[in-house]
Amino acid sequence: MSQSFDSLDPQNSNPTLDASTKPIANRRLSFANWREFPWQRVNWVSAVFLIVTPPLAILLTSLYVWNHGWSWGLTWLLIGSFTISNLLITVGYHRLFAHRAFEVPGWVRFALVMLGAGCFQGTCLQWSTDHRRHHRVVDSDEDPYTIGKGFFFAHIGWMLMKDQHPESKRYVPDLANDRWIKMQHDYYLPIAIFSGWILPGLVAWACGLGFWPGVLVGGLLRIVLSEHSTFLINSAAHTFGGQPYTDKNSARDNWFMAILTFGEGYHNYHHFFQADYRNGVRWYQWDPTKWTIWTMSVLGMARRLKRVSAAEILKAKIAMEQKRMAARGASHERLQALRDRIEASHKRLQELQFQMKAEMKLRVAQRAERRRVAQAERQAQFAELRAEMALAQVEFRNAVAAWQAYARAWRTAIQT
Ligand SMILES: [Zn+2]
Ligand SMILES: [Zn+2]
Repeated sequence: MSQSFDSLDPQNSNPTLDASTKPIANRRLSFANWREFPWQRVNWVSAVFLIVTPPLAILLTSLYVWNHGWSWGLTWLLIGSFTISNLLITVGYHRLFAHRAFEVPGWVRFALVMLGAGCFQGTCLQWSTDHRRHHRVVDSDEDPYTIGKGFFFAHIGWMLMKDQHPESKRYVPDLANDRWIKMQHDYYLPIAIFSGWILPGLVAWACGLGFWPGVLVGGLLRIVLSEHSTFLINSAAHTFGGQPYTDKNSARDNWFMAILTFGEGYHNYHHFFQADYRNGVRWYQWDPTKWTIWTMSVLGMARRLKRVSAAEILKAKIAMEQKRMAARGASHERLQALRDRIEASHKRLQELQFQMKAEMKLRVAQRAERRRVAQAERQAQFAELRAEMALAQVEFRNAVAAWQAYARAWRTAIQT
């Protein structure tokens, strides 16, 4: 895939310059000009890691298999670590931290942040910053992984050069003050090495597979596979598929991408309703991330899951359909009349739902008031009863005293 270097430099895009007068950063790399490439802007750590790890993973895994063979244990280790790794990004980094689509208790937040570091996709703070910016200014030059600069750029190219928007921290004021996210950001490398390499090694060792095979398969190989699964969301999910909800941005819905990305392939829906904890909204749409979040909510590990109503989703789809049909010659008046009818009936339904909610609230309040009155009445009766009892006790004691006084007087009388 060819890649022009102007795509890596959002500040250099003057269309009036011809090829000969363009700064080198705006031209394609060739043998003639490679010396003039802006090497000072290369993000060496990220570039070396992203370029070296895939061939290294293939080479070392092949050497291992050649010398020691493969086992079912290693297959399960790869499947398990790949699944966990992808879910840490889709459930944690993406839907929880970047979009706040649900809430979790402190210990789940801690686990998602610390284990998430082991996916080697950068700190949670930086990932969320880039992602929120991507949603806010999608497809523009400001979009950190805009597809407008090509498939390769959106997939991996954007990470090879330094970020040109250091002010972008303003996108994450809520996360910047979170102590676990701050800690992960400040001590990223040791945390990532422990979660991403040492932990899979220890798990493999505990399962009898050996520490180093665990580091190779559950660490290196898993990191490469999981990273490219995530990268597909920025590249393929902005290139291939349908646009049932909006054509105002390049995001696509694609069931095949959803399989490769743990549900994130329903990206057109996601860009339209980004706060929804689901990306595949229909029950049959492959979205293991939404199933995981739902299961977490059942187990008390997640709460306040945000959902867009079915009617709103349907309306968005109908609006898009109207646009397409009108563009292909369908009667605009007829379509608008039908859509107005849908809007009016939905508005009426919403009003009635609102009234129904208010009525329910009133009924609950009335029931509580009735209970309060009945309780007060019972308490008054009880107090009355206690007072009567106290009186009766006094009367009883008086009666006994009177008896005793009379008996004493009688006994004195008969003795004299
Ligand atoms: Zn996107
Ligand atoms: Zn998103």
